[in-house]
Amino acid sequence: MSHSDPTVDPTLKSWVESANTADTHFPIQNLPYGVFKPTADAPPRVGVAIGDQVLDLSCLEQAGLLRTPKPLFSSASLNAFMACGRETWRDIRKQVSHLLSAGTATLRDDAALRSRALVPQAQATMLLPVEIPGYTDFYSSKEHATNVGALFRDPKNALMPNWLEIPIGYNGRASSVVVSGTPVRRPNGQIKLPNQERPVFSPCLKLDFELETGFFVGVPNDLADPVPCPEAESRIFGMVLLNDWSARDLQAWEYVPLGPFNAKSFATTISPWVVTLDALEPFRTQQPRQDPEPLPYLRHEGPHAFDIHLEVSLRPQGGQPATLARTNFKYMYWTMAQQLAHHTVSGCNTRVGDLMGSGTISGPEPGSYGSLLELTLNGKQPVDIGGATRAFIEDGDEVTLTGWCQGAGYRVGFGSCSGVVLPALPIAV
Ligand code: MN
Repeated sequence: MSHSDPTVDPTLKSWVESANTADTHFPIQNLPYGVFKPTADAPPRVGVAIGDQVLDLSCLEQAGLLRTPKPLFSSASLNAFMACGRETWRDIRKQVSHLLSAGTATLRDDAALRSRALVPQAQATMLLPVEIPGYTDFYSSKEHATNVGALFRDPKNALMPNWLEIPIGYNGRASSVVVSGTPVRRPNGQIKLPNQERPVFSPCLKLDFELETGFFVGVPNDLADPVPCPEAESRIFGMVLLNDWSARDLQAWEYVPLGPFNAKSFATTISPWVVTLDALEPFRTQQPRQDPEPLPYLRHEGPHAFDIHLEVSLRPQGGQPATLARTNFKYMYWTMAQQLAHHTVSGCNTRVGDLMGSGTISGPEPGSYGSLLELTLNGKQPVDIGGATRAFIEDGDEVTLTGWCQGAGYRVGFGSCSGVVLPALPIAV
C-alpha cells in the first residue's frame, strides 16, 4: 500500500479523544487487532485498540456496521480473519478507520451502540490473539550473532561461515507461547558446572530475556510450494513484540549438536496487539546492505526493514523499572521476507497463524543490546538497575518490552509485552 493510503494519513483524527495524543501507541493510524474479554465472564471476541479503548468488532459486525465476507469477529482468535488474505485485511482496516474518523457520525453519535462497542483497555482482559500452530525463531541480527560469537567462540571470527548466507533459525515450541501479563516459571534443568564431571539438576541460574519482534503468517503456503521472496511480505498479517525467554546455562549444555531445546521451550511471551504491515508502511526503510549478495532465492528489490524503536526494562519486585537497552528493528540484517522465503524454500509448508521470531535485536552500541547475555558479558559485568544490579533475571523481576514507530506528532506503537518471573518448582531430593 502506498503513502496515498488514506488510513495512514498523519493528519487523521478520531472522535475517540484519547487516540489523538502525541504519545498514545494507538492513534487512528495504527488500528492493531487483538482478542479480548470485556468482562471476566464474557466470551472472547476480536477488537481494535484505539487510544485507551478497545473497539469491539463483534459488536459492530452484529450491528451491521462492518461488511465482511463471513462472520469473523465473534471469535477467540484472529485466525479466520487472517486466512481471508490481504484484500480483506485492507478492506476491514478502511472500514474501521472510517467509522473511527472524527467526521464520521455513525458510531460517534449513537450513544447506545458506542457504549457497547467501546471498552476501556484498563477493564478489558487481553488474550493470546492467535491460535499458533507453529513457532520458529530466527537469529537475524548481525550485531547479536557477532556479540554471542565473540563471547563463546573467537572474537576475531565471531560469525559462523554460514551466517551471512542463511537466515539461521530453529523450530521452537508453539505450545508455550503466552500473552503479555502471564507469569513465567523459572525452569529446572540440567546444568553443567565447569568444575564437575556430570551435570546437576537445578533451577536455571542464568535466566535471560531476548528482545525480539515476531510476525504472523496470514496466507499460508502448501507443501512443496515455496514462497518467493518478493511475494513473502504480502502473506504477513502483522507484527508483535516477542520475549524469547532463555535459560543460558541449560542452553550451553544441551545445544550441541541440534540447537536449543528446554532452554527456550518453557515460555515465549508476545504482546496482545498485532500491528499490521499496512500500519507500518509509512515507517518502511532500507535494511542494512548485504555482503555477499544473497543467493537468488533470498533476493528482493527495495526497502524491507521498518523503523521501529524498541526498549526493554526490568523492574525488581516492589521496585521501579530500569531501562536496560534501546534498539531498533531496522538494524536486522535479514528481513522478514527473507526469513519466510528461506523457511519455505525446502518445501516446508506454513499454516495460518504460524509465528516467526526475529531473533534477538541488538544495535551497534552496548546500550542497544537485546539480552542480558550481551549486556553483562555472560554475567561477568552486572548492569545497574538503580540501587541494585543484575547479572541475570531474579525471581520476582518483571521484564517489559515496548516499541513504537515515531511519526510527525504521533506514534504507531505495539503497547507492551511483560512477564514476571516466578520461583522454580521445588526439586525432590
Ligand atoms: Mn531468540
